[in-house]
Amino acid sequence: MEVIKKSKIEKLLSSYKSTNIAIATICSHSALQIFYSAKKYGFKTIGITTKERKAIYDAFTSSRPDDYIIVDNFSDIPVDELVSQNALMIPHGSLIEYTGDKILSLEVPIFGNRNSLLWEKNRVKMLEWLSSSGLKTPKKFNRIEDIDRLSIVKLPGAKGGAGYVLVSSPEEFVQKVGSDINDLVVQEFLVGVRIYPHFFFSPFETTGYKTKHGCLEMLGIDRRIESNADEIYRSLAAGLKKDPTFVIIGNEPIVIRESLLYNLFKYAEAVVEKSFDLFGGIIGPFCLELLITDKLEIYAFEISARIVAGTSAQINYSPYALFTHGHELSMGDRIMAEIKKAIELNRLNDIFY
Ligand code: AMP
Repeated sequence: MEVIKKSKIEKLLSSYKSTNIAIATICSHSALQIFYSAKKYGFKTIGITTKERKAIYDAFTSSRPDDYIIVDNFSDIPVDELVSQNALMIPHGSLIEYTGDKILSLEVPIFGNRNSLLWEKNRVKMLEWLSSSGLKTPKKFNRIEDIDRLSIVKLPGAKGGAGYVLVSSPEEFVQKVGSDINDLVVQEFLVGVRIYPHFFFSPFETTGYKTKHGCLEMLGIDRRIESNADEIYRSLAAGLKKDPTFVIIGNEPIVIRESLLYNLFKYAEAVVEKSFDLFGGIIGPFCLELLITDKLEIYAFEISARIVAGTSAQINYSPYALFTHGHELSMGDRIMAEIKKAIELNRLNDIFY
């Protein structure tokens, strides 16, 4: 699928009335946070939803979008209607999952650099991005016959960890998965503690952690809660042996040893720098999925090149947001502040594609 030309998006943006901008997203993932922040910052909000889901968003009266566009299917993004309402789309994991490759050609401005979604969507490219940034990544097996240790087999797409299986040998791979390794990522299974730090990269900001192309901040860290891996001790204690599974159910905020912050910023900086070499830079929120071993080695096994759902676990309080800004600031707020600034500077083109 062709990625829409940046000049087309620039043309759309130039037709927008800056005093009448709307913020739109699909009603899923982190939409409640996005709407809440957008409303707080004075933007009109548009929720794209199916009929059944609307009632859920109506139930959260302080976050519910001002308007809805009802669709039969989340993959049908009503671009013309959005553009006619001066809408700016905020991408999140569900938008990427539901629209598939279509997201690349959607004729509506999307927050961040659309090329980064292309790199995030393709696991092979994503791992190439991480390892070429100099980050330690888990060993990846490209041929079934090479599998020589406990490994996690990942299906294509971000389906919240669903369907992943563990295998330890070529025989077990064939038995559990089949004879085709194409489109799958088979990665060494890492043992340690997972953390998911939330970064924001701004091309405008001049304070904070300075990098070559702008400033980086870290607004929070979460840990995912996955079924059944994260409560497997209960079945073990009850005498039931189960294979772990990794289906994301929720998130909880955490803080980490302060000395590790150095490594986190270095990792994030390297990923941002590399993104400029590879595809013109990552803009806005991103999250590194990391695992830290008992030797304090830090592995990166994924990157989300947009807001992650775990940011909603700390919208009203994250120590890291407080240490950065001196007041509470959620990732949704940070996005809206950046958009406000871009409107003021007449630089929406720099943060939307
Ligand atoms: P992902 O789709 O890559 O975000 O993976 C979903 C979940 O599977 C993660 O949040 C981890 O709990 C687990 N996971 C993924 N990759 C690995 C790995 N290489 N080693 C151990 N656990 C992993």
